[in-house]
Amino acid sequence: MSKQALTVIGLGPMGQAMVTAFLENGHPVTVWNRTASKADELVAKGAVLAPSIKDALAANELVVLSLTDYDAMYAILEPATDALAGRILVNLSSDTPEKARAAAKWAAGHGAQHLTGGVQVPPPMIGKEGSSTYYSGPREVFEAHQETLKVITATDFRGEDPGLAAMYYQAQMIIFWTSMMSYYQALALGKANGVDAKDLLPYASNMMSMMPHFLELYAQHVDAADYPGDVDRLAMGAASVDHILHTSEDAGVDTVLLKAVQDIFQRGMAKGFEGNSFSSLIEVLKKA
Ligand code: NDP
Repeated sequence: MSKQALTVIGLGPMGQAMVTAFLENGHPVTVWNRTASKADELVAKGAVLAPSIKDALAANELVVLSLTDYDAMYAILEPATDALAGRILVNLSSDTPEKARAAAKWAAGHGAQHLTGGVQVPPPMIGKEGSSTYYSGPREVFEAHQETLKVITATDFRGEDPGLAAMYYQAQMIIFWTSMMSYYQALALGKANGVDAKDLLPYASNMMSMMPHFLELYAQHVDAADYPGDVDRLAMGAASVDHILHTSEDAGVDTVLLKAVQDIFQRGMAKGFEGNSFSSLIEVLKKA
């Protein structure tokens, strides 16, 4: 059976990896990029470079976008909106859930359908086992193109709200960036005490490996909105956070991150949560 033909717009490292995976799996691929020279290697592998964005859109119903953000999408597609009718835009550019929702409406206004995607892996993982992408938008559109999309990564459909794929992606990135900052904070403390990163590494890894247990326990607290202080009490946590802040001050390392954490604990204490689990801090953080 012949493989579905598609267009890929955006040939940064991610778009290039995706086009390569589609070509290797026998999909005819038309490409377009603002900087046309980035298509050279892909054309040598069998991709067709469209001479204009309108030609790229006219070539195929299925159009994958891999751009820096949604502003780049508008910069490219606004001058070509009359070529959008009947297209399926699979937008694998990262941005906010609100921008994804607005883009779905914008696409519908031009007769196109929009699937939001959030790719969870870097370019070298495209087309490899263990990679995955969040999708959200019209279910029937997702299901109609799932087989083709599976070429680049496994697919994880999160629901019909176009913002959901972006929300899951950003939630994951919140965990990534803030966890990595906590790691660097610990390494800075180590360095100030003459301890190298490689010496702290096994202990940092051990702490991270315990996290799934805590994540599961506190997910139950948060969903039940019940924060029993039977294992940990917020007052104990607040004292511990004071200790890590004072330790860092004594060592002369930056404390902005730890002061932010202390602030959240203090606001929980001010709300009278001292006898609850520190999972009660969700009440400080969540939308009122
Ligand atoms: P890049 O930022 O390198 O992609 C740039 C692409 O966007 C290029 O095709 C570039 O064109 C185009 N572009 C940017 N601004 C404009 C504009 N104003 N007008 C026209 N074209 C524009 O990103 P990646 O390829 O690395 O990633 C693509 C998406 O995938 C991003 O949203 C990223 O967040 C996401 N992602 C990336 C990961 C990674 O590790 N790389 C991991 C997971 C997700 P030109 O070549 O002409 O500059």
